[in-house]
Amino acid sequence: MARKRKKPVERAAVPDRYAAFAEHPRFGQGPRVTGLDPKPSGAVQPGEALTVLHWHSPGRKRIPNTAVVANWRKQTFTVLPVTHYFDTARTCRDCGLEFIFYALEQQHWYEELGFSLDADCVRCVACRKIDQARAAQRRRYETLLHAPQRSDEESLEMAECCMALVEAALFSPRQLERVRMVLNATAATASSKLQKRREHLRERIAAFAARPAGPPR
Ligand SMILES: [Zn+2]
Repeated sequence: MARKRKKPVERAAVPDRYAAFAEHPRFGQGPRVTGLDPKPSGAVQPGEALTVLHWHSPGRKRIPNTAVVANWRKQTFTVLPVTHYFDTARTCRDCGLEFIFYALEQQHWYEELGFSLDADCVRCVACRKIDQARAAQRRRYETLLHAPQRSDEESLEMAECCMALVEAALFSPRQLERVRMVLNATAATASSKLQKRREHLRERIAAFAARPAGPPR
């Protein structure tokens, strides 16, 4: 069955300020203007509606006219509920690119996914994906490592996870010893597919050893 293609989202021209921002797969580049621009309440007069904006998005980071009304009843709040979300400019912790943490993403995080209002967004979408993939690799590695028994294929998968985590500087290079042990232990495996994977792992170890020594991370 042919899948319906999603309609492309119409996007306005991106202001220069955002030209170098990391792109968001759904919202593109540049802020999503809503025209709503509430100011945080100072001293509130009786009968006046309170406006509370997120403390992780102070004034200098908020992008004007991008507010979305929050439903504070759906928030898991710790100290204060938030009445509006704003698109806010951030710098990615991993790649250093600027990106926008969109008001609609915040609404999704804090109202649909049940994230605490204390949860902050520190990575661009691309780096968030890499980070999630690494976390999954790490979980898989731990599962395989502690398995009472492993097939050669599972041992190789464990070694591949280990290699990737060393390459990502999440594991110490000392962990490569485990990769080498798996290579030795699976040397007798007859499957040509597994032999190819062993060969590829050897190449990765060699490439890692030959990498230019960068600044310590
Ligand atoms: Zn990034």
